[in-house]
Amino acid sequence: MGHNGVMTSQATDATRQNIAASTEHLPLHDTQDFDDADRGFVARSQQRQITALDGRVVWDMDAYDFLAGGCPDTANPSLWRQGQLLVKDGLFEVVPGIYQLRGFDLSTMTVIEGDTGVIVIDPLISKETAAAAFALYQQHRGDRPVVAMIYTHSHIDHFGGVKGIISQADVDSGQIPVIAPEGFMQHAVVENIFAGTAMTRRAGYMYGASLDKGPAGQIGAGLGQTTSTGETTLIGPTVDISTTGQELTLDGVRIVFQVTPGTEAPAEMNFYFPDRRALCAAENASHTMHNVLTIRGAVVRDAHAWAHYLTETIDLWGSDLDVVFASHHWPTWGRERAVEYLAQQRDMYLYLHDQTLRLINQGYVGAEIAEMIQMPPALEAAWHTHGYYGSVSHNVKAVYQRYLGWYEGNPARLWPHPPEASAARYVSAMGGINGAMLVAQSAFDDGDYRWAAQVLDHVLFFDESHQPARSLQADTFEQLGFGAENGTWRSAYLAGAKELRDGNFGTPVGASADLIATLTVSQVFDSIAIRIDGPRAWDERLVLSWVITDEDTTYVTELRNGVLVHRSAKAPHPGSTTFTLSRVALIGLVTGTLDLARALGDGTVVVSGDAADLQTVMGLVAPVNPDFAIVTP
Ligand SMILES: [Zn+2]
Repeated sequence: MGHNGVMTSQATDATRQNIAASTEHLPLHDTQDFDDADRGFVARSQQRQITALDGRVVWDMDAYDFLAGGCPDTANPSLWRQGQLLVKDGLFEVVPGIYQLRGFDLSTMTVIEGDTGVIVIDPLISKETAAAAFALYQQHRGDRPVVAMIYTHSHIDHFGGVKGIISQADVDSGQIPVIAPEGFMQHAVVENIFAGTAMTRRAGYMYGASLDKGPAGQIGAGLGQTTSTGETTLIGPTVDISTTGQELTLDGVRIVFQVTPGTEAPAEMNFYFPDRRALCAAENASHTMHNVLTIRGAVVRDAHAWAHYLTETIDLWGSDLDVVFASHHWPTWGRERAVEYLAQQRDMYLYLHDQTLRLINQGYVGAEIAEMIQMPPALEAAWHTHGYYGSVSHNVKAVYQRYLGWYEGNPARLWPHPPEASAARYVSAMGGINGAMLVAQSAFDDGDYRWAAQVLDHVLFFDESHQPARSLQADTFEQLGFGAENGTWRSAYLAGAKELRDGNFGTPVGASADLIATLTVSQVFDSIAIRIDGPRAWDERLVLSWVITDEDTTYVTELRNGVLVHRSAKAPHPGSTTFTLSRVALIGLVTGTLDLARALGDGTVVVSGDAADLQTVMGLVAPVNPDFAIVTP
């Protein structure tokens, strides 16, 4: 074991046995995925490291070269195999006229060739990776102009790199339409407004972007290897897809859409190319069991709706299908295989949903059901239903959460002590720290890492500076990570271990300026309201009015009882201080990029009443903490 902060990086006998047991029934004879991930290969990029303007590497295509070797005992062979498939980077022909750029980011970009130019689907996370991917396409397929952009859904790995390929001016001039499912903008920004800071910090654990990559380190996130760390951008859609059956012809390419709201994302769509018998399944079908609830945290998804829409997809296009591709992983070719793949993905989500409810109605709780559910053997025998990104364990708990919430119905668990107060009592009950450490060490030695982690969690929440506890918890997390088939679990465990050994690695990536710039006035007020320091604002009463010049709207905000209420109004509130300004100026004021005194001086903001009222409100806005502690109090 590696006390004193020395990384052990070795699997214990217990971990080796756990891995052997969990991989006993893997369908190793089925190597089709390797053929599919290579099929249509055109070329790899010569540019192996993608850098930002300042020289910082935002994506390294050679970072996972070690995966070419055999699986070490510090990794689950099933996840290792998934990584080997995901690092097959380059330009690939899906069918004539449809190309994919894979291995340039967490997600996959698709290029559809039209009569005069190309339609780009899902331009990755970062401007830099998207530009590099598209450059490889153009290098081999000619300098074809972009004639349209499509976002399959509202997650940032499907739009963030857009400005690496087109500009806002291209779109504003009407030259390039940007097509997205209805509700895209609302959902693309809403997560960032309400819980974005916490999600971003937790995403650092889930994707492991700050971890060292290697046989005992990060080996992939299951959905893609990890997230790129370049500049994220956004150009708002100009065409909404709101109904299934809606059709567009772009540059001679016919496209038929299926809207799938409330599946993998709140705004998402599948679409079909009838002239190429090809289906884009967005992120609704991929080569992994996906998340009903991602471990970075999110609003829980609807496994029932997800399954329903996949049934509809098969009904719509299953009889005329040569290939299904998505915005992660590699395509599946052949009508029979493609339909069976979609059907198995559907069955997987529906099985999780239905069986969880069956057991819920027998009185079992999420943690129990998570251990009881085994996927049907026919699904287990398909690689793409394995939990590389989602898992049976956390998806079952998500279904429970969707229907019943956090409370399990047992009043013994209705009002437990919070972590630190519990920790003090558990540690005391185990005979103090020394007693608790004996329990933890014995659990570790027995290979019961789940119990060791629970006990050490109490020790650390009682005394976070206890070095032997930090060290043993890091070793424990590491063994749990080594055993995990799920890439996000492995990264989360190894991230916890890294922070216990080396300290907090924080959140490297800040909020996207483009995303902030798209906030509606109402979203701006929401984003301030959730940062109001309630107790300090208890006794403040203040009404302000806001005339938004470029939208011809008026809002009234009222601070009372620690809340900042906002509503649209016909006119400013009588007697209130009134600010007259554009939406962008409002964003500037609340984010601090626009100085009020200067804005008043140059007329960007006009005020009637007491301008200091704004300081009163902004003075009550508390900072967020993007680097909050996770594995310690
Ligand atoms: Zn995605």
